[in-house]
Formats: sequence, C-alpha cells, structure tokens
Amino acid sequence: MRIEQDLKLGFKDVLFRPKRSTLKSRSQVDLNREFTFKHSGRKWKGVPIIAANMDSVGSFEMAISLAKYGAMVAVHKHYSVEQWADFVSANDASVLNNVMVSAGTSDADFDKLKDILALSDDLMFICIDIANGYSEHLVEYVQRVREAHPNMVISAGNVVTGDMCEELILAGADIVKVGIGPGSVCTTRVKTGVGYPQLSAIIECGDAAHGLGGMIIGDGGCACAGDVAKAFGGGADFVMLGGMLAGHQESGGEIIEKDGETFMKFYGMSSKSAMDKHSGGVANYRAAEGKTVLLPYKGSVENTIQDIQGGVRSTCTYVGAARLKELSKRTTFIRVQEQENNVYG
Ligand code: 5GP
Repeated sequence: MRIEQDLKLGFKDVLFRPKRSTLKSRSQVDLNREFTFKHSGRKWKGVPIIAANMDSVGSFEMAISLAKYGAMVAVHKHYSVEQWADFVSANDASVLNNVMVSAGTSDADFDKLKDILALSDDLMFICIDIANGYSEHLVEYVQRVREAHPNMVISAGNVVTGDMCEELILAGADIVKVGIGPGSVCTTRVKTGVGYPQLSAIIECGDAAHGLGGMIIGDGGCACAGDVAKAFGGGADFVMLGGMLAGHQESGGEIIEKDGETFMKFYGMSSKSAMDKHSGGVANYRAAEGKTVLLPYKGSVENTIQDIQGGVRSTCTYVGAARLKELSKRTTFIRVQEQENNVYG
C-alpha cells in the first residue's frame, strides 16, 4: 500500500488571483477557440463548452439552442439512427459541427456509430466514454474506431491521470475526457471510494495531453460559472457540464408537477433511473453509481449559457486575458479555505 502525500485540489480549494489588465469591458473578451486536432487534422472554431451526453441534458433541442452561442452538445447515445437522420436533415453545419455523437463500446454500438456518421459529413466529433477509462477494452476500442474513422475527432475517457491520458491519445484519441467522481449526480466516490479532485485531474491530464499535441475535456463537478472558469484556467481545452444545463426546456428530462411547482427529473447515467429506462434494471453484479434528483424547472437554457459565458468573460477581464486561449497562461490560483459569503444562504 502506498500513500501519495501531495495535495490534490478541487474547484472549491482555489480562487483566481486578479492581475493588472488593459481590458475595459468583458465585451472585449473572445471566448472562441480555434483547434486543429492531432489525429484527424480537423479544424474547429467555437466556444468550448459542451453539454454532457446524459439523456436529460444532451438532447437535439439542446444542440440547436447552444449552437447559437457557439457551444457544443455531446448528444446522448439513446437516439435511434432514424431520429439522427431527421435531426441531420433539419440542421446545417452551424449545428452539426458542434455536435458530438456518443457511442458505447459494444459491436452493436460500433455499427450504430458508423450508420449515424454516414448521415452527414458535417458530423465531426465522436464521444466514447465509459465510467472506468482505465480498462484495456477502451484502448482497443479507440484504436478500432480510429482505424474506421480516420477523419473524425475522437474524444475518449474518462480518466484522471496523465499516464492513461497519454495512452488514450497514443491509441488514437484527439481529446481525452477527464473526471472520475466529481459529477453532480455521481455517487462513485461514496460507492467505491475511487476518485480524484477535479482541478488537479485537469491540471495533470492537461499537461500530459498537451505534451503530445492532444486536448482534454474537463468533465463534471462545475457548480457555477466560476468553476467553469477555473477548469479553463487549470488547462481544460473544453469543459463539459451536466447539472448546470439540466432542468431546462431543452434538456429533455421528464417534467413533474409537485405542490403547485414545476420540476424536471435529472439523473446520473449509471443511476437506477437510467438503468431501469435503458437496460431493464440494475444488473445484480453492479451497484447504481448515480443519483436521481428533481430540479426546479429553469426555462430556456439560453439564459443559463449567457450567464456562464458572461461569468467566464468576466474572469478573463480580472486576469487580463483578451481571449479564452490566454486564460490558463494568465492564471495564478491561490489556495483558499473559504469561497463565497453565505450569510444570506
Ligand atoms: P456535472 O456537470 O453534473 O457535475 O457532471 C456531469 C458528468 O457526470 C457527466 O458528463 C459524466 O461524466 C458524469 N456522470 C453522469 N452520470 C453519472 C453517473 O450515473 N455516475 C457517475 N459516476 N458519473 C456520472
């Protein structure tokens, strides 16, 4: 048994140190990034915030609304090829370039992925994720998908350490998805005791990926716009959000009326709710590692995405970054023992 002694950090353990800045207004900040991806060579420009591939977040409706703000959606894997065909024929590249097609890792998933990608050349992102990205099976699957789709941008995960990040990039991933246990409806840390504080995971994996010309998605654990900014500041190229974008008109969750108020159901993809819906219940060899919660209904996601983007722009002005690209270079985190003042709740 070994114990690593160096401290690992979550979002709540740090704040940005303000820096002198020539920026007068947050309207001067550009949140767009332009990337050329390592293996596929594809280029993409947009705001690198991604709605999570959860079936009460990553819907087609979410993709259409977020595309207006340059942001992305990892569309969940429970739509049929026919539903994809309708979506693809109704939308142009401005939406389709900002969509990731999520895929499981079975042979049937491989075939379904191929059928979806054949629908349009404007689809350019594949999102392959399993809860435990340390499995050999994932590495082999990424190699197989890379061989079959040399021109697609492949994201694979989830992992939290540099070694595995490098292995996935060498296997053919352009982007590695980083995060085990930080999610708002995730119970992995309590069920298994496994996890890694998310900001340190981002810092360490970002470093490893960038060294090889790869990129990372900081996935999970953001509870407010400040956390999204911290993820970018720590070196995330993309930030993926579940809970912050759940509960909206576009999220696709079930609406529930209770005591005269409107709520929307939101659940983890390995919660009992998700397994009952998609896999006929929780198999007896596994435990659910996700929660189900009711969120107050929040209306259109457009207000929320504007709020998040406004927050990140403001962070950039505090540290003097005219573009999101400069944020991590201009970031000094200070370790803190307090965050916001909670006198009024
Ligand atoms: P959030 O932004 O809500 O904090 O985190 C979203 C992320 O949580 C997702 O992108 C995914 O990686 C992770 N996640 C979603 N459902 C589950 C689940 O049921 N169990 C676990 N362990 N993680 C989940």
